[in-house]
This record gives sequence, structure tokens and C-alpha cells, in this order.
Amino acid sequence: MILKYRCMKCGICCYEVEKNELGYRKRIPLYPEEVDELIELAKKYEIEFKVIEDLVFPDIINKNILVLTFKIFLDNPKACCPFYDQEEGCTIHEKKPLACKAYPLALKRIDSFNMELSIDPLCNFVSKNYNELKNISLNKIKEIFEIEYPNVERFYRKNKNLILKIRQLEFEKKIKIAREISLDDFNKALKEWDRIEIRVK
Ligand code: SF4
Ligand code: SF4
Repeated sequence: MILKYRCMKCGICCYEVEKNELGYRKRIPLYPEEVDELIELAKKYEIEFKVIEDLVFPDIINKNILVLTFKIFLDNPKACCPFYDQEEGCTIHEKKPLACKAYPLALKRIDSFNMELSIDPLCNFVSKNYNELKNISLNKIKEIFEIEYPNVERFYRKNKNLILKIRQLEFEKKIKIAREISLDDFNKALKEWDRIEIRVK
């Protein structure tokens, strides 16, 4: 029988996962425009919703922190996404972030500027079918994750476009990213510099 991805609606992916021995920490990345949309939805549903900055670059020409992505801050007792409901599951299914639409396909960050496609082993479906999914070809991934694959492609393109935009701004000498900055200086910049959100389509 051909394996096809079917979400088991266990909700594991909507919870924070503690750091394991590989240093993995689960997070739900959001683009600035997704944050705007989720803030509106949270107001509508009277849900407490907080985000923190995720991928940021310090621009040493203008002394700004460039914010490319945020992540949902899971500071509730259950450490789960505020849009998750025990009975219903995701309550914003149509409007959930691109990262959730692509899941369990994900982008593993190699460094600040590069990433690669991965399948999240923490997903219940993935762990149950691990033997079939390990070392799988790209064509098989497309077959098994028919709906999620186009979303992870959009997710990848969007991340690439963000990085290209940063590189373009650097090329035009409008910004300069501090690539070698001490942790102390970086933390000082995080405290003192203004934020500029970087948005792409
Ligand atoms: S938006 Fe929905 S799918 Fe995404 S983490 Fe929240 S509850 Fe889960
Ligand atoms: S962990 Fe996997 S199977 Fe469970 S709800 Fe999330 S996507 Fe579905």
C-alpha cells in the first residue's frame, strides 16, 4: 500500500518541545504579516497571543535590528499554541501560519542564511512511519505529503526571498549586517536599537 500522510490530530506539533540531547527546540516561525493577521484573530476570539522575535540581523549602518521572523511565545501553563483547543485541534485551520500548513515538512536552518528541507521526526505520523520515511527521495516526499509539499515550497521561497532582500539591501549599501559580533554587543544592540520588519511577498 502506498503511504499517504494523514494527520492523526494528536496535537503534538502545537506544543513546545523541550530541548533534547541534539539541542532541538520546537518553534512555530511567523512572518510579520502573519503576526498582524494572528493578532487580529486573537482579538476576535479573545485569546491572549504573544510573539517574540526569531530570526533577526543587526544592521550596523543604521543601528537597527532587522526582524525577518517571529515565533509564537508559548508562555501558558500547557506550553501550547493559544489557537489550539483540546477538543477541536487547531481553531484557525484555514488561516494558520505557512509553517503549520507545511508541517510535518519543515525547513532546517543550517545557518542564518541557509536552510534545507526536513521531515520533523517529532510528528506522530512521522515517528510511526519512520522506517519508510528515512532516506526517502524528493519524489516520494511529494507523493506522500501531497498537500504539505507545495506549502513547504512556498515556505522555502519566502525564506529565500527574505534573505535575498537582505543581500540586495547590503549590495546597495543601505544596510550592513554585522556578521562577526560579540554576544555582549549583540545583546546590547537588541536592547537599544530600533526594530525594522523585513517583509516580502
Ligand atoms: S496555528 Fe494551529 S496548527 Fe499551528 S501551532 Fe497553532 S494550533 Fe497548531
Ligand atoms: S504531530 Fe503530526 S500527526 Fe500529530 S497533529 Fe501534528 S501534524 Fe498531525
